[in-house]
Amino acid sequence: MENIIRIAVQKSGRLSEDSLSLIKECGIKFYNGTGKLKSTSTNFPIEFLFLRDDDIPGYVSDGVADLGIVGENELVEKNKEVTVVKKLGFSKCRLSLAIPKGEEYAGIGHFEGKSIATSYPKILGDYLEKHRVKAEIHEISGSVEIAPSIGLAEGICDIVSSGSTLMMNGLKEVEEIFRSEAVLIADPKISPAKQDIVDKLLFRMNAVQKGKSNKYVLLNAPNASLDRIVSLIPGMRSPTILPLAQEGWSSVHSVIAEDQFWENIEELRAAGAEGILVVPIEKMVL
Ligand code: ATP
Ligand code: MG
Repeated sequence: MENIIRIAVQKSGRLSEDSLSLIKECGIKFYNGTGKLKSTSTNFPIEFLFLRDDDIPGYVSDGVADLGIVGENELVEKNKEVTVVKKLGFSKCRLSLAIPKGEEYAGIGHFEGKSIATSYPKILGDYLEKHRVKAEIHEISGSVEIAPSIGLAEGICDIVSSGSTLMMNGLKEVEEIFRSEAVLIADPKISPAKQDIVDKLLFRMNAVQKGKSNKYVLLNAPNASLDRIVSLIPGMRSPTILPLAQEGWSSVHSVIAEDQFWENIEELRAAGAEGILVVPIEKMVL
């Protein structure tokens, strides 16, 4: 099977929806009915394996799948031989240590000689070793937050997003030990023929990601302010300037990074820009 690549994605959970929409935004069509474990695209040489996220690093390092989308937390924890091709910017979360709310906390030394429940024994073990703290790690696979209240452990190490689960279980976050987001991983032993297909996919993913982080801006400005406005929104090569029907005014079209837009808007207005429209970009190829 040299002319088709296989990608492992999470079957259902916090990675699935964004993983599948990224692939769809790349123009790749496929069917993923509920309960399906495998699917083939109808318009791109790619096959999907729908798996538990725990299994994705192993499938990719064994070469059963050529690519995978997984959280960095799971990737580092599983410690498999794979190449990280690209950070994907979704499923962002952190792995933190937490202790019962009422306890004092003066630093990581707090955990010396204590027991900590976690589903991430490797990441936690490495962190404790780096900080020269000796603690007992209890590996459990789920509902880690209840461990202190049932007397299983004195602290926990788990994924935190808003902190509300911790609060509900009478815990407080005391130390962030790892930051994670979804990444695209690849089998390091992939064949050149498959690599060509991966490169085509990456070209599309980059165009989608670039499009998402930029906006198309249209605005009207008096001709006297054009130099200033062009310097604020220089665009890809340079902005497009079209005359308005009203004498002395122009319409300026350009592309701007989304985070820069909010920084520049006041200056654009001060320079005389008005009727500013900001439009999403679907794909962007430089
Ligand atoms: P599976 O059944 O596939 O083993 P799971 O229960 O282990 O799923 P999920 O809860 O679906 O895992 O989370 C998958 C990944 O999404 C996590 O490993 C982490 O990288 C990320 N993640 C977890 N919680 C959050 C959150 N609250 N916000 C954003 N991303 C998260
Ligand atoms: Mg899992």
